[in-house]
Amino acid sequence: LDDAPNPHFVLIPFMAQGHTIPMIDMAHLLAKHGAMVSFITTPVNAARIQSTIDRARELNIPIRFVPLRLPCAEVGLPDGCENVDEILEKDQVMKMTDAYSMLHKPLVLYLQEQSVPPSCIVSDLCQPWTGDVARELGIPRLMFNGFCAFASLCRYLIHQDKIFENVADGDELVILPGFPHHLEVSKARSPGNFNSPGFEKFSAKILDEERRADSVVTNSFYELEPLYVDSYQKRIGKRVWTIGPMFLFNSDTSTIADRGAKASVNQKYCMEWLDSMKRGSVLYVSFGSMARTVVSQLEEIAMGLEDSKRPFLWVIKSDNKPSETDKLFLPEGFEERTRGRGLIIQGWAPQALILSHPSVGGFVTHCGWNSTIEGVSAGLPMITWPHCAEQFLNEELIVNVLKVGLAVGVQSITNRTMKPDEVSIVKRDQIERAVVELMGKETGPEERRARAKELKEKARKAIDEGSSYNNVMQLIEYISSRGTRTDVQ
Ligand code: UDP
Repeated sequence: LDDAPNPHFVLIPFMAQGHTIPMIDMAHLLAKHGAMVSFITTPVNAARIQSTIDRARELNIPIRFVPLRLPCAEVGLPDGCENVDEILEKDQVMKMTDAYSMLHKPLVLYLQEQSVPPSCIVSDLCQPWTGDVARELGIPRLMFNGFCAFASLCRYLIHQDKIFENVADGDELVILPGFPHHLEVSKARSPGNFNSPGFEKFSAKILDEERRADSVVTNSFYELEPLYVDSYQKRIGKRVWTIGPMFLFNSDTSTIADRGAKASVNQKYCMEWLDSMKRGSVLYVSFGSMARTVVSQLEEIAMGLEDSKRPFLWVIKSDNKPSETDKLFLPEGFEERTRGRGLIIQGWAPQALILSHPSVGGFVTHCGWNSTIEGVSAGLPMITWPHCAEQFLNEELIVNVLKVGLAVGVQSITNRTMKPDEVSIVKRDQIERAVVELMGKETGPEERRARAKELKEKARKAIDEGSSYNNVMQLIEYISSRGTRTDVQ
């Protein structure tokens, strides 16, 4: 690695799968285009992405995975609590961000010892302490923003103009000033971390470091949302590097399958099952890495899928059952009645691979940005079912701007801190109607599907010598031309 080409990018994700995965993709694409990459993680998180680490080693890709010990005990967190996934209490989120900020010193020491000095830090928006590290090392900090430009612009405006400051009712709609067109947003359906009590200091720090960052990197592509990329860039007054969909730069399917976590299904079996289905006939149902579905909602989804009579591949997180040995809470006889046309994956699915299989023809999504961009890349129309954070804004983009989606419900999928009675349930007939409308009799309504296909082509074009490809090359050149720590004085 020491002979690897410069520049040297130091990537620091936030430790949640939805934040780590795009950074793994970024590490691969930078390495593929001649950069050296250090990927900062922690021992627990490194174990989760072990197959990615092993595969990179096997293929001799110049990515160095650096596990730094997180001082959990010092901030009052249980040992090994190194990922947002393990957090059950809201106040633990802040403790975890405190623990991460304590990596400042070990990280500086580590980077100072490297024979190839770091050229820049690219760190997640939720790791604002890394701004100080970059300044101490005399290198630029680029902020990785895991949102699309549409949601990034909303988040920035909401926070900058403090539009919810005097709004008590979470559902009250407020016009977003400064947005390129009329848009109404509510507190309850905006990026959560930025307006809930207890997060004020953290969120002010994020905004401050966003202002101080050299530039912003995002996993979107210009042609998908040019109006919002331009507006966001103008608003924050700095370059927004749209370099997505990042995973499309990687042609090694086994890296893509297991990035984030080891799949809970035999990949060969899953692909053969899809091979056996008719082209464009399967609906893929998944709500990302964090959401857990309450039992009563699981039952409604099951019955809605059953009634739709369409083939489906449904991912249910494995802790949606009382214990590892118990069966899932599904309606009696459901699996028998849908045998042959339904496949359930309990745990982690190789999602990006599944979505790009030709038998998949639609996607029920919680509108996390990674899932959305993966759905767009696969040319799939979507049933949107957001439940928190910026997912409502992504739904707005999918349904009303890009017009490739159909909304079915809101917030019935929960995170683990919500109680069942805080959750509204979307009923089986609503689900059935949405599925039948999306998938149509054969291949679904032509216009929506045609638009989705167009986006797929645009995404492909962006990474094959198009806007995203050019931005990656320019980004690497830009960082190289700024020199490394030794010549920035
Ligand atoms: N993912 C996956 N298998 C799963 C669940 C999620 O591969 O079983 C991946 C998915 O492809 C996406 C990421 O995890 O890349 C989820 O990110 P997203 O922004 O969609 O949602 P979040 O998990 O952050 O809510």
